Amino acid sequence: MTRTKRMDAVLQNRLEQAADILYSARLAIALTGAGVSVPSGIPDFRSPGGLWSRFDPWETASAEAIRRNPEGVWRFLLDAVRMMSEAEPNAAHTALADMEAAGALRAVVTQNIDGLHQRAGSRYVIEFHGSMDRFYCNECGRQEDASVARRLGPEDIPWFCPACGGLIRPEVVFFGEPIPQQAMAESFDLAEEADAVLVVGTTGEVAPANTIPQKIKARGGCVIDATLGPTYFDSICDVKLDAPAERSLPLLARMVSEARGR
Ligand SMILES: [Zn+2]
Repeated sequence: MTRTKRMDAVLQNRLEQAADILYSARLAIALTGAGVSVPSGIPDFRSPGGLWSRFDPWETASAEAIRRNPEGVWRFLLDAVRMMSEAEPNAAHTALADMEAAGALRAVVTQNIDGLHQRAGSRYVIEFHGSMDRFYCNECGRQEDASVARRLGPEDIPWFCPACGGLIRPEVVFFGEPIPQQAMAESFDLAEEADAVLVVGTTGEVAPANTIPQKIKARGGCVIDATLGPTYFDSICDVKLDAPAERSLPLLARMVSEARGR
């Protein structure tokens, strides 16, 4: 047997175990992070080539930066908005939407802000860190359309509120800001109920989202880790799908829906 064939056999076997877990789960959720959007052309902000290799997060994406450095905030946001509006959902996003439609996943809890899960067809998406699809004035709260942000050029920034002159910002969690209360409450409620979680594209470094698999495991639930490479969930996961998610998840989605169809 060649090395590739052996790896395929291992993956096939683990996919079957994962499908089994999702099929028999009462309530399963997915937890996703930056890795799921990398094949869509959005590098992990923290990776080389990611936005944090070009922008200092505290200087461009913090409550302090909004006050002191509106120009820098918007130089960063222009790049982020362009990158995200050019991106398309990939096969991993689509597979998660398919598993939800098949009744095998209740919700996707995501740390991503790119809106790609919704564009792929996922209906119940909890955005732990907010979304670049919504903008509002940091002073008066007036909402602004994201389509306007996508048309801004370097000459139009910083984008100030036409009503009060405050800085317009995306509805994302900046450094030093709290996680939106509703997202936190909803995902922790789901974690209390869930008996399986499918982790995709996150190494589990960022709190408090990384506590969700631990909560589910602690109550006797199962953890499937579909993140390529080592993660902080390696010690608690029941099944590790050590393959690119855009390859493993479509296979998993097919197995789950075939099992449901039987
Ligand atoms: Zn305003």
